[in-house]
Amino acid sequence: MENLKEDSMKMHNFSAGPSIMPAEVFEEASRAILEFNGGGMSLLEISHRSKPFQDVMDEAHALVYELMGLSDDYKVVFLTGGASTQFFQVPMNLLNDGEKALYLETGVWASRAIKEAKFFGNPIIAGSSREANFNFIPKDLNIDPEARYMHITSNNTIYGTQQHWWPDVAMPLVCDMSSDIFSREFPLEKFGLIYAGAQKNMGAAGTTLVVVRKDMLGHVNRTLPTMIDYRTHIDNGSMYNTPPVFPIYVSMLVMRWIKKMGGVKAMEDINEAKAKILYDEIDRNPLFKGTTAVEDRSRMNVCFVMEDPSKEEAFMNLAKANGISGIKGHRSVGGFRASIYNAMPQSSIQVLVDLMRDFEQTNG
Ligand SMILES: *Cc1c(COP(=O)(O)O)cnc(C)c1O
Repeated sequence: MENLKEDSMKMHNFSAGPSIMPAEVFEEASRAILEFNGGGMSLLEISHRSKPFQDVMDEAHALVYELMGLSDDYKVVFLTGGASTQFFQVPMNLLNDGEKALYLETGVWASRAIKEAKFFGNPIIAGSSREANFNFIPKDLNIDPEARYMHITSNNTIYGTQQHWWPDVAMPLVCDMSSDIFSREFPLEKFGLIYAGAQKNMGAAGTTLVVVRKDMLGHVNRTLPTMIDYRTHIDNGSMYNTPPVFPIYVSMLVMRWIKKMGGVKAMEDINEAKAKILYDEIDRNPLFKGTTAVEDRSRMNVCFVMEDPSKEEAFMNLAKANGISGIKGHRSVGGFRASIYNAMPQSSIQVLVDLMRDFEQTNG
């Protein structure tokens, strides 16, 4: 089995999500499916209430506290339904009918969050880059001080923009960190709630991490269905019902790996260096150009096109022939998108950069 994974590791996977994970996580997760913890049974067939799985859940929670530097004021839960479920679960838990919340409209995911918030409150768009196909992060914001929270998307996976500053507002930030969680440090004290689908930067599809400050909850007067009330999952240690055991286990392994790599600050330094290699080539190479405002460039999803779009197919073919997978840009942006999450090695980025240089030599 080890060999099987090694053989398939020749691909350079730049997919936006589900996406690359550390090779050792794939190996350990595979072993756990065959036999978990030497107990003669698969991780997938043991009770979620058994001690071996309770240990996984406890370690997963503890690693979130440790990696993010959370105090006891914050509660951590692993839920299901993806980040898309948080688009409505957040306003259901935090907003009364008609109550205002600010939303920064920085992409399709943010727009979907706004759409859902309308069902349970009054989302006000504090800034939008919709007119520019979301190729920048709006900086002139309309801040209504009455709003209960301000929702932002820390990294816009489709467009390749990222918040490199945090809105200076009195109300707590609520943040969709699906595509850059654990990729960098952030000022925790500004954040009242953070959510992230696991499948971009922290694991396998099937679980969503939610981190919420205790004082955010208990404010709404609507009746919340039991499964939708965050307090149900907090009070039951993410085990009110059967949790998605395998995705949680994989997230735990990824967090262990991040810790071993030196933690979130170490990841941030590595991610900055990795992104610079690719952006430097995009800026140097006359055949390519970036698609976003330079100051808002994402260190997770690098979007670029060719000056001559008719050459894009030839470059895509060259990339594919060299084991590069997943760099086709989202249909709403076109061109290319190289997703370079935590687990993406610098060597794979170098392969892509070398191909861009080769292409310049032969097609420039
Ligand atoms: C992928 C993504 C989503 C959607 O996540 P699901 O888990 O598929 O619901 C939401 N927000 C951002 C920023 C994303 O990248």
